[in-house]
Amino acid sequence: MDAPTAASPDRRAPSAGPCPDGTVVIVGGGFGGLYTALALSQQPAPPPILLIEPRERFLFLPLLYELLSDELRRWEIAPPYEDLLAGRGVAWLRDRVERIDTTARLVHTAAGRPVAYASLVIACGGGDCTFGVPGAERHSQGFRSLADVERLQTLLRALRDQRHPLQRVAIVGAGPTGVELACKLADLAEGSAVIELIERGSMVLPQGRAFNRQQAELALQRRDVRVRTHTQVTAIEADHVVLRSPTSAESAIPATNEILPVRGVVWTAGLGFRPPVITPSVATDSRGRLRCDPELRLLGHSDVYALGDLASPAPVADPGQGDQPTLPSTAQVAFQQAALLSANLIRARGGEPQRPFVWNDLGEMLSLGKGDACLTGAGLTLAGPAAYQLRRLAYLTRLPGLPHQLRVGAGWLADCRP
Ligand SMILES: Cc1cc2nc3c(=O)[nH]c(=O)nc-3n(C[C@H](O)[C@H](O)[C@H](O)COP(=O)(O)OP(=O)(O)OC[C@H]3O[C@@H](n4cnc5c(N)ncnc54)[C@H](O)[C@@H]3O)c2cc1C
Repeated sequence: MDAPTAASPDRRAPSAGPCPDGTVVIVGGGFGGLYTALALSQQPAPPPILLIEPRERFLFLPLLYELLSDELRRWEIAPPYEDLLAGRGVAWLRDRVERIDTTARLVHTAAGRPVAYASLVIACGGGDCTFGVPGAERHSQGFRSLADVERLQTLLRALRDQRHPLQRVAIVGAGPTGVELACKLADLAEGSAVIELIERGSMVLPQGRAFNRQQAELALQRRDVRVRTHTQVTAIEADHVVLRSPTSAESAIPATNEILPVRGVVWTAGLGFRPPVITPSVATDSRGRLRCDPELRLLGHSDVYALGDLASPAPVADPGQGDQPTLPSTAQVAFQQAALLSANLIRARGGEPQRPFVWNDLGEMLSLGKGDACLTGAGLTLAGPAAYQLRRLAYLTRLPGLPHQLRVGAGWLADCRP
C-alpha cells in the first residue's frame, strides 16, 4: 500500500484523536461512497468529509463491457479520484480500512493510521464469491476491475491471433454480468472461440424482466453463444472445467460429469462480502451484509451508516426483521441510497428525524454486444441500436459529478462530427 495521501486541495485528512469538527468519514469510493461524498459536499454548510479508498480511479461498472470493446475510453468510465474530488471539499485518503472501533470512533487503515470520525459511512461493496469450487480462485478471473478487462483483452488477442478449432471461453453464471459479457465476448472473438455460458439454474437472467430475458436469449442465439442451463461447475483447472448436469434433483436424466477444455474462465456467479472488522461486532444477515435500520444506520448505532451492496436495510414497515429480499445489489440502489444518506447526515447534525430508504425501481438496462442493448422501465421496452444509444445517454447523466459528465458528453459529440 502506498503512503496515504490527502488528495484534496482544500483539506488535510484528519487523524487520531477527538473529532470536534464533525468529520464524516466514508469508507469505500464506489457508487455508494463516492456519490454520498459528492451529494454531501453539495448540501448547504456541509461538514468536513473524508473519503478513504485504496484505488486510484473510480470505476463505473455498468459500462465496463464498453471499455472491453473499446466503445468507450478508460478516462470516461474510470476517472481518477483526484480529478473527481478537486475543489469539491472532499479529502481523499488513499488507503484501505482494516478495522473499525465504534466505541473509540476510530477507523484503522492498512497503512497503520487511525482516523477519528464523528459520523461513519461504510460503503465497501462486495467481491467475487466462488463458493469454494476447487481451482476457481486460481484458474478463473472475475469481471469487475480494470485489471480484469486487460486480462480479457489479452486473451481475446491470443484467441484471434492463434486460431485453433473449437477454442472455448467459459463464463460461469448467467445473471446480468454473465449474459452481457457473453454477448460482448462473442462479438469481440470474431468467430475465433465458442463462448460457453454456464448456469446452475433453469434459465438465463432468473431475476430479469421478461422482455429483457427474451431479448437476451435472442442476442445469445444470434451470436452462437452456447448456453448450458441446469449445469454446475464443480472444478476448474488451467485448461478445462468440470461440469455436472443436470443440477435438478427432479430430473429423470441421471447426473453426468463432463470435462470441457477451455482457454479461459470468467466467474460471474456470486457476490461475497469481506467488510473491515468491526468492534464490538455488529449484526449481519445470512450473506454477511451489514444489517441496518430503514434509515441506513447500523442496528444499535446512531452515527454509523452503511449503504450499497454491503448494506442490508430492514424494510420500512418491519424494522429489525431480517433481510430485505427485494433490494437488488445494483448501482441504481446505491445511487438512490447515497442521495438519502447525504440528506440524513445533514438532518442528524441538525437534530432532525432521519428518513427511511424507499427504493424507486427505475427499470433495467442490458448491454447485448457491440452497438446493441435492451431496456425495460418507465413504461418503455426497447431493444437494438436505439436502446444502445439511450442506455449510453442514461448513464451519461449518472457519471459522477457534472464536470466529468460534461467532459464525457463533449467527447461523444466530438466523436459524432463528420
Ligand atoms: C460488470 C458489472 C456490471 C454492472 N452493471 C450494473 C448495471 O448495469 N446497473 C446497476 O445498477 N448495477 C450494475 N452493477 C452492480 C453495481 O456496480 C454495484 O451494485 C455497485 O457498484 C455497488 O456499489 P457499492 O458502493 O456498494 O460498491 P462498489 O461500487 O463495489 O464500491 C466499493 C468500493 O469500496 C472500496 N473498498 C472495499 N473495501 C474497502 C476497505 N476495506 N477500505 C476502503 N475502501 C474499500 C472498493 O475499492 C470500491 O471502490 C454491475 C456490477 C458489475 C461488476
